[in-house]
Amino acid sequence: MEYTDVAVIGAGLLGCFAARALTALDICVTVLEAREDVCTGISRANTAIIYTGCDTRPGTLKTELCVRANREFDRLCRELDVRFSRCGSLMAAFGTRAEAVLRKKLGQGRENGVPGLELLGPGEVRAMEPGLSRDVTLALYAPGTGTVDPWELCIAAYENARDNGADFRFSQEVRHMVRTEGGFLLETDGRTYTARVVVNCAGLRADAVRELTERPSVRIFPTAADYLVLDDTVSGFVKHIIFHEPEEKGKGLTLVPTVDGALLAGPTRRPRDTAPDWATTREGLEELQALCAQVVPELPLEETIRSFASLRPDPYAVREENGQWVREGRSISSFTVLEENGLISLIGVKTPGLTCAAALGEYVSDMAAHILGDPGKNPRFDPRRRGIVRAHTLSEGDRAALVRRCPDYGQVVCRCRDVTLGEVKEAIRRGAVTLEGVKRRTGAGMGRCQGGRCMETVMELLAEEQGIPPWQVTKDGGAALVRGEL
Ligand SMILES: Cc1cc2nc3c(=O)[nH]c(=O)nc-3n(C[C@H](O)[C@H](O)[C@H](O)COP(=O)(O)OP(=O)(O)OC[C@H]3O[C@@H](n4cnc5c(N)ncnc54)[C@H](O)[C@@H]3O)c2cc1C
Repeated sequence: MEYTDVAVIGAGLLGCFAARALTALDICVTVLEAREDVCTGISRANTAIIYTGCDTRPGTLKTELCVRANREFDRLCRELDVRFSRCGSLMAAFGTRAEAVLRKKLGQGRENGVPGLELLGPGEVRAMEPGLSRDVTLALYAPGTGTVDPWELCIAAYENARDNGADFRFSQEVRHMVRTEGGFLLETDGRTYTARVVVNCAGLRADAVRELTERPSVRIFPTAADYLVLDDTVSGFVKHIIFHEPEEKGKGLTLVPTVDGALLAGPTRRPRDTAPDWATTREGLEELQALCAQVVPELPLEETIRSFASLRPDPYAVREENGQWVREGRSISSFTVLEENGLISLIGVKTPGLTCAAALGEYVSDMAAHILGDPGKNPRFDPRRRGIVRAHTLSEGDRAALVRRCPDYGQVVCRCRDVTLGEVKEAIRRGAVTLEGVKRRTGAGMGRCQGGRCMETVMELLAEEQGIPPWQVTKDGGAALVRGEL
């Protein structure tokens, strides 16, 4: 049996940032993650936007955290050595219904304290984004909107939490949990942990984990989303994040110029059962192509290099009716943070959960500190972390000096993204155990050939490091977990 003060369940964005904030306290923190690595659930597949807070209702926890988190994002990314592009966003309308939505968002955003919001006429919008359709009638400009690489952010939070003392345990799916006199007893495959406080950040399964000790009150009913990724050859086609507010009801298009120079288009919204979990649908991808043709007609869609899907953890209040748990009509829109005698659960945190991950981490760490009787601060806590050196971003002189010190940085493994052997080795040293783990840490395999040329080398390096034959190296470990599998 192993003892910890706080057990965090799940190592996605919320679990890693909760762990990071908790390590600022003078306590033991253990993170139990079902998968082989961090960032394998929703945190790996989202729209990568850092929102300003003009999309959410005034006075809610979600709005309060979002506005604050956006303001503090530059500092957070400096501390964690994470790339952040505050490129601004244009929410584009193509008719009177959408214009009314933009005006409402402007008022809401101002009430929420979001700075710099402005309505722009068609001439001004097209001057900023010549690729937008000539049919645009109005746009809401939000200069504070930005984008990050969610993998980079999650991995940075993990590394920083680990450096500050958090004990991450992988392949540790929490299957049973009971209350004891002093807290909780948790069982994974083959191990038992006791904890005074549990922070449940189990993403799509946060409801199921909570129900190991509590009666159902909120359950997750996921919906799915499809995305397209266009190659960095279209870099600069749009400079801002574009939100298309549709004239008819339904989901519009979002375009994100990513920090890697690629272009992300999506997400759709469709029922989860239209495809196996995490799989795209043809209908979804065609819907995105049709929306692109309408909003940015000249966008070269033939530059599409990848598509992927995600699952939204839509939370609903449930009530018991004739022995069945029946969900209420509308999904809960604010963040659901429940504290039940030492069990803190973050249930159904969807957009803007990426934006608010650090703020939510601090929020739950304050709750845990209160439950633990206000332990002191960790005197050795350091919020800073250094990322893996990206050789191609260095000046010629710095790159040459690096190669002299470590020749591996002179050998390019991934030609599409100019990733070197030194970077791949460093990613493995820092914890990557799958091809996707290396990709999320370095970008190797993310370019035009999607790993066609570098996969073999990366596989061999992973095999060598783990002392296993190359055919035992997996692309992405086990399957991501969703409700109903506990
Ligand atoms: C389609 C989509 C688009 C989005 N776009 C944006 C955006 O642009 N901007 C923004 O701010 N937010 C966005 N979000 C929200 C953001 O991505 C999420 O809020 C965030 O990633 C949630 O992270 P998480 O840690 O809760 O979940 P996850 O990343 O899913 O992590 C949960 C972890 O728990 C583990 N786990 C589950 N059960 C157990 C168990 N029993 N024992 C141990 N471990 C377990 C899982 O393996 C997983 O690793 C988007 C979300 C979606 C779905």
